[in-house]
Amino acid sequence: MRIGAIEAGGTKFVCGIGNEQGKIEDRVSFPTEQPEQTLGNVISYFRDKQVEAIGIGSFGPINIDPSSPEYGYVTTTPKPGWSGYDFLGTLKNSIDVPFGWDTDVNAAALGEATWGAAKGLDSCVYYTIGTGVGVGVYAEGKLVHGLVHPEGGHILTRRHPEDTFEGACPYHGDCLEGMAAGPAIEKRWKIKGSDIPNDHPAWAIEAFYIGQALAGTILLLSPKKIILGGGVMHQEQLFPLIRAEVRKNLNGYVSHRMVTDSLDEYIVPPGLGENAGLSGALALGIGALGKGA
Ligand code: ADP
Ligand code: ZN
Repeated sequence: MRIGAIEAGGTKFVCGIGNEQGKIEDRVSFPTEQPEQTLGNVISYFRDKQVEAIGIGSFGPINIDPSSPEYGYVTTTPKPGWSGYDFLGTLKNSIDVPFGWDTDVNAAALGEATWGAAKGLDSCVYYTIGTGVGVGVYAEGKLVHGLVHPEGGHILTRRHPEDTFEGACPYHGDCLEGMAAGPAIEKRWKIKGSDIPNDHPAWAIEAFYIGQALAGTILLLSPKKIILGGGVMHQEQLFPLIRAEVRKNLNGYVSHRMVTDSLDEYIVPPGLGENAGLSGALALGIGALGKGA
């Protein structure tokens, strides 16, 4: 079986073909430009690929409510040309296959639950800490949509006592994304995150914010696994720092073995590595086919 997958990011699009075992057989990548041009590239890629369905994990915010007239639209992004754009409808008009459509982070959560770090579990939460902070939620065997979709990147966090950075979120200033996404790190320290040494105080402050969000996530959703992806999480020294913050914040209140004794198996990097997003889109495509991704 050949299933198409689209990881639609704000910086780049990745399109690929995979099978129902989650194996990616082909992939291409191109920069995200104006929607007509970008989706033109997507349509040309899939034109002769004979896929049976396509899954899309998209940057957002997007409309994923099938009962809404704007289902499939990108809603309020500052990305030029994309706000109010009928992303899914444009593809449907050109490619006649069933489509799966969800947020990039929900797709990643589904991919991880199907083939990755949360395989066999009926819940997980996927965080990306990259250009922004996004949160995908898989609970009781289903992706969570709710009113719109989870937007956990913009929750408010308590400020680190030594942190005077005003925050970088255009909506909220010092929300989680405003304090902990890649651009916030760069603005606070005036140096790219990838160039900050492992032992720099930046990482303790970074873990302080992510650790709060994760403790809140555990209290609110009680997920069976938390997966942390995105460019900033390439800083592997963050994992033990974040686990220590989670332990400190929960202070023994959640008395499950995973939390008390096995945080290193509970808060983990993506099992699918850099393929988490594309594999997630593939899982959405399989779901669209009704084969139960
Ligand atoms: P996106 O969120 O756009 O899909 P990424 O997940 O790659 O893309 O995140 C990009 C962000 O991550 C940038 O702000 C970049 O500075 C930051 N970043 C990338 N690599 C690293 C690294 N090794 N250490 C710290 N920050 C990084
Ligand atoms: Zn915000």
